[in-house]
Parts: sequence; structure tokens; C-alpha cells
Amino acid sequence: MIPFIDLKAQYLSIKDEIDDAIKKVLGSCQFVLGEEVLNFESEFASECGSSHAIAVNSGTSALHLALLAADIGPGDEVITVPYTFVGTIAAICYTGAHPVLVDIEPRSYTIAVDQIEKAITYKTKAILPVHLYGQAADMDPIMEIAKRHHLVVIEDACQAFGAEYKGKRVGGIGDLACFSFYPGKNLGAYGEGGITLTNNATYAHTIRMLRQWGQEERYIHLLKGFNYRMDGIQGAVLRVKLKHIEAWTQARRRCAQKYNDLLSKANLITPIQAAHNRHVYHLYTIRVSNRESLSKILKEENIETLIHYPIPVHLQPAYLDLGYTAGAFPCSEEVAKQIISLPLYPEMKDSTIKAVSDIIVKSLPK
Ligand SMILES: *Cc1c(COP(=O)(O)O)cnc(C)c1O
Repeated sequence: MIPFIDLKAQYLSIKDEIDDAIKKVLGSCQFVLGEEVLNFESEFASECGSSHAIAVNSGTSALHLALLAADIGPGDEVITVPYTFVGTIAAICYTGAHPVLVDIEPRSYTIAVDQIEKAITYKTKAILPVHLYGQAADMDPIMEIAKRHHLVVIEDACQAFGAEYKGKRVGGIGDLACFSFYPGKNLGAYGEGGITLTNNATYAHTIRMLRQWGQEERYIHLLKGFNYRMDGIQGAVLRVKLKHIEAWTQARRRCAQKYNDLLSKANLITPIQAAHNRHVYHLYTIRVSNRESLSKILKEENIETLIHYPIPVHLQPAYLDLGYTAGAFPCSEEVAKQIISLPLYPEMKDSTIKAVSDIIVKSLPK
């Protein structure tokens, strides 16, 4: 059996450090926020080149609070893509704002920059690009459009810790940026977690209050807030993992390169790394014309694969009320039919990558 990811292998490689860090939290009884979370926030902010980091209990919460800090709510529109994890769009809906969708580019799978301006109306407040699969969206034109129309830019960097755009880390480019520490993400906690980054002190202050019942002082509620705090244990685990993440990112990039080389002999589309980008391969996705037959073959060979994502959000039953129909976003819809994610994790052996690739090349010869 070749698993899609191997969280156990990673845990075993840092077991002593993790166990010590967790024991420290148990000893201190700082189970919610506390010193470990505070230290993690400042280490994470400096790692991403941002001035403020507010740790929360999920990537979705990070997005929700970023949107609220930018004063987005009912009557406002936020521009994003239909081809993303549902959490991106759910967070916009939580605020009462309306997601306005724009198709993706066919090769990078990130927002089609040339279609953004057509979607802007007098109600538009923000652009929310998604750095999908670990690759940065084309941020320069996005920032330029936002500046011209006085819009806020919120990066959904949930899949992209360590990714770079023109030498800059994602998370420090937009006005706000959000990361997820779901265990399967590149920087994964041992439970749920997320963080919002910003260089704006006012936004940071608002998010800090909203994370914890809208209070500055205990039991004095200045805003209608939430219980979105990060656990102490997650802060401690993430501090340990932050020391190793660069090596893991490099390992992911080596695995992706190996797949690219081996799969060049197969009749399929491998991922690209757009010009000026450093892709961190949260997911290694290929596109094939007959996905069902390849999935079946890989399953029979005991190779685990997943589909990210089989249905773009505008066609999901829960989001039909956004008012879009099939055909609205041709590129998203076509990619959703062809995409398949192969096993990839930093601890993956070359021989395993070769075994997966050999089967694919054999079933899809050029
Ligand atoms: C994972 C993810 C989220 C949500 O993060 P959670 O921690 O699961 O809430 C949002 N957007 C994208 C693109 C994601 O991949």
C-alpha cells in the first residue's frame, strides 16, 4: 500500500522534540493560547516577513476574521475563485458578504487575473486570491488592480506555507493572509489550527479581539466576537515543526521534480511552476483525459489517490444559491473533471515515486 500522505513517518522523525513540547504544555496547563501560542505567533510572523500574526483554531476562522477586520459584511462583494476548497467561499458567506467568482488560469490553476476587473462593481470590497496546491497566484497585477479600485487583498495561503512570488514569501504580499494548520497541510498541527498575518496594526488588534469574544479586557465585550482561540498544544507542536519545515519543503520540491521527470514519458499534464514562483507542492496534481480508468488502475495497485476538487464550489449543492450554473467557469469545470492528486510527502522515497510513475507511464503511454 502506498499512502497519499504519511503523517506517522513525520511524527516518528521528530518524536522526542514533539513529546517534550507537549509535556511542557501539560506541565504548564496553558491549554488555550498561552506562552507557546504567543511565541509561535511571533516566530511565524518573522518567518513570513509580516509584522503581526494572530493564531486561531482553523484556516477557515483565519479567513473569517481577516474578512471581518477588513470591515466586510452584508451588501459587500468579495472576488475569489470557484476552484478552491469550500472553506474559502464559506468564510465569505459567514460575514454575510457575497462571493463573486472568477475563473482560474488553465495552467497555474490560480485566479485568472485578466478576468478580475470585469467582476468589480461598486459593492466590491476585496479580492481573495487562493495560492492553490502550494503555488502563488499572480500577485503583482492583483495588487495593482486592488490599488486602483481601493480594494483589500486577502491571500488564502492555506495550502502554501513557504511558497514564494518574485522572491517574496506568500502571506506578506496582500493586506491580510490566512494559513491553515490542518494536519494534512504542509505545516500541520496535531489537531485544527490556523493563523492570520497582517502588517496593519488596526486589523491585527481587531482580529485579536474577535478571536476571543471581542474583548480587550476580560468580560468587557467591545465587539461581537467568537471562540476561535488556538490550543496551547498546537502552538507547541507548530513551534517544533517550524524548525523543520524548510527541509520538508525542499523534500517536497525534490519529489515533485522526480515525478515531473518520470511522468514526462506519459500522456498527461504535469503541474507547472509559474515564472517567478517557488511552488511548495502541497498537492502534486496531474491532469488526464480519462481519470476514472487511471484511478481504477492505481486503486488496484494499492496506490492511494485523491481528487482536489471534483466539483467547483459554484456547482456544489450548498452553493447553488450563489446563482451560477454549469458552463459559467469553463476552465474550473474542465480541470475538475481531469485532475487527480498523487501521493506526495516529504518522507517519500525515490523508489516509491518511481513505482507510482511506472504504473502511470505504463497505463498512459505517449
Ligand atoms: C484547508 C483550506 C482552508 C481551510 O482551512 P481549515 O483549517 O481546514 O479550516 C481554506 N482554504 C484553502 C485553500 C484550504 O486548502
